[in-house]
Amino acid sequence: MKPIVFTFFLFWSSLSLAINLPFKVTFGDWVQGSLLAVELPVPVQVWVDDRALMVMANGRSVLGVGRDATQVVIRWQDTQGVMHHHIQPVMVRVYDIQHVNGLPNNKVNPNPQEVAEIKQNNRDIALQRKTRDYFNAPNFPFLWPVSGRVSGVYGSQRVLNGQPRRPHFGVDVAAPEGTPIYAPDNAKVVLAHPAMVLTGNTMLLDHGLGVKSIYAHLLDMTVKVGDTVKRGQLIGHVGKTGRATGPHLHWGLSWFDVQLDAARVVDRPLPAVITP
Ligand SMILES: [Zn+2]
Repeated sequence: MKPIVFTFFLFWSSLSLAINLPFKVTFGDWVQGSLLAVELPVPVQVWVDDRALMVMANGRSVLGVGRDATQVVIRWQDTQGVMHHHIQPVMVRVYDIQHVNGLPNNKVNPNPQEVAEIKQNNRDIALQRKTRDYFNAPNFPFLWPVSGRVSGVYGSQRVLNGQPRRPHFGVDVAAPEGTPIYAPDNAKVVLAHPAMVLTGNTMLLDHGLGVKSIYAHLLDMTVKVGDTVKRGQLIGHVGKTGRATGPHLHWGLSWFDVQLDAARVVDRPLPAVITP
């Protein structure tokens, strides 16, 4: 096949398939770090970047777009068993990257025992993020879990002495110690760890369909693993446990192991005060 014909064919086929996506998007956009809620009119199996969508009986589902994704590959099997695919382009964002040089080495690399403990903490969180047994449809937009001032954003990254660190995947909200934190939507508490090295008192909520939210540096936690919490219910208070220079909530969102921008699931500016 001549290249020009082949190119035309690809263009034509992706155009025609775009119209026939197996779902319609009901919340969110095709932007890096976004969570999208979708509705499937017909019960078909859909994979997004090779992750199988969890779908409610009424056809509701969700998917996430990673921090550095430039496209999302959507595959689905129709009711006749025929496989289809569509390559969805994604809007690229610009992240805040800070280079810090001339740091003493012990500031850059923590000691081996701490490294081992941090790795174990990360494994505990990663294990819970992967679970796919909770069929509950989250309600979008979410509520802000806390009031305060945004002091850190999703996607930012520091490069220390030339070594890129893990990007910052949460939104940080600075607030006085003891400020109440509320569940942004209905959820099940799947992790409530009292002393993680970096994140201190750390809680993970499962909102269903692979959507989890994380709360770090808490002063205390008022719910425990296994509890179900209602949208707007008190779950703990702002603290500075773990590695934190001041009291703040680190709030993160994920879809399975894809880390998303929590600030993109709320529809209003961060409130100065929340009255439950
Ligand atoms: Zn943070």
